[in-house]
Amino acid sequence: ETYLTRIRLTEPQLKSFLHLSDNVLRDAGEIDRKIERNEEVGPLAGVFVGVKDNICTADMPSTAGSRILEGYRPPFDATAVRKLRESGAIVVGKTNLDEFGMGSTTEGSAYQVTANPWDLSRVPGGSSGGSAAAVSARQCVVSLGSDTGGSVRQPASFCGVVGLKPTYGRVSRFGLVAYASSLDVIGCFGSSVADTGTLLYAISGHDKLDATSSKREVPNFASAFITQDFSESKPLKGLRVGVIRETIDSGVDPEVISSIHGAASHLEELGCIVTEVSLPSFSLGLPAYYILASSESSSNLSRYDGIRYGNQAVSDELASLYGDSRAQGFGSEVKMRILMGTYALSAGYYDAYYKRAQQVRTLVQKSFKAALDENDILISPAAPSVAYKIGEKKNDPLAMYAGDIMTVNVNLAGLPALVLPCGFVEGGSAGLPVGFQMIGAAFDEEKLLKVGHIFE
Ligand code: GLN
Repeated sequence: ETYLTRIRLTEPQLKSFLHLSDNVLRDAGEIDRKIERNEEVGPLAGVFVGVKDNICTADMPSTAGSRILEGYRPPFDATAVRKLRESGAIVVGKTNLDEFGMGSTTEGSAYQVTANPWDLSRVPGGSSGGSAAAVSARQCVVSLGSDTGGSVRQPASFCGVVGLKPTYGRVSRFGLVAYASSLDVIGCFGSSVADTGTLLYAISGHDKLDATSSKREVPNFASAFITQDFSESKPLKGLRVGVIRETIDSGVDPEVISSIHGAASHLEELGCIVTEVSLPSFSLGLPAYYILASSESSSNLSRYDGIRYGNQAVSDELASLYGDSRAQGFGSEVKMRILMGTYALSAGYYDAYYKRAQQVRTLVQKSFKAALDENDILISPAAPSVAYKIGEKKNDPLAMYAGDIMTVNVNLAGLPALVLPCGFVEGGSAGLPVGFQMIGAAFDEEKLLKVGHIFE
């Protein structure tokens, strides 16, 4: 009831949720009764979780922020949601996002604009802006987002919460509305590293319904927090940390850079050996990402034909039924991505764009591998700026895309990354949060969580 009151009081200004569950008190009551009867309840019993609206839930609509899926109610839960419910979590509602995850501000939702809880005139980041704002404003304890090119990490930074992008394949994508399948992962938000790691543990693991989900064993991430010994003065002694040189350079807000230097010094105090490391292919990641993500999305979005899902235009002729349903159902950013992707994949341009971008992807993977052979973790800002004003970049897609420079490379390489608050800059009425990103080797979320927990 406390959380429901909190939602009632904050939601008119924030607009984090697209749908709220009607069954929250019933579900909570069931858990109470189980506890009274001494029956087993899961590790997340009674924990309120927000779920991004591109993740399928059987008891609520799942629109992915798009008119084309307005009113669509999937007949199943995504695997991550099923696992959450099995752990006792209560899905409180579905959070707002840029349509199909395409955007960095949540202004691209077909339904509403979510505000940043630190300053209501600013964006919460995106595309998982609703999930980040909801945790930041304590409308729920933790939330799920998705991260194709930074959509968990950048809003975590803008809203001053913890955001985790798992290794590609760590969490099943079954029931996640596909944007760019080789990059998409479901990720976690929390207000502490311990909450975020506990959530990750609940949703991770192999799933036969997602052929790309990994069979690797899932360590109990939560145990890292219980066994931590805080009496030691240098708990991270000898840990090699590489600050990615290209990310603390021109084009990045000086205040953001100084917060990252601050985070690096804090890591040094904790015993880390901090050096600078270069990722020569870093700046190539952004154009390669936008080519690949648009190409994959143009193919993935062909399923919205007005027949199988969602809204259908009125027409007696099949081709115009497809065309009109898509014309009415997709927003302008989505249409632009489909056009870019179709162009990049077309016969005459494939070698110049798609193939080239795949080659860059290999370079990015190799340069991360080299840097992670020399270092345990790499650090960078999570975004080149703090949260900016609603409307500021809405009509300037290239400026918005440029804001993804810190995050997209990690998706191209499939690596895990954790974003943590590391400072504040002037702005709003109480300052605006800055986040920093720690990148680890594939499937080594545990190290990131341990370091993050000690850092915070
Ligand atoms: N802003 C990026 C894009 O628009 C990343 C989005 C995401 O991670 N879903 O593609």
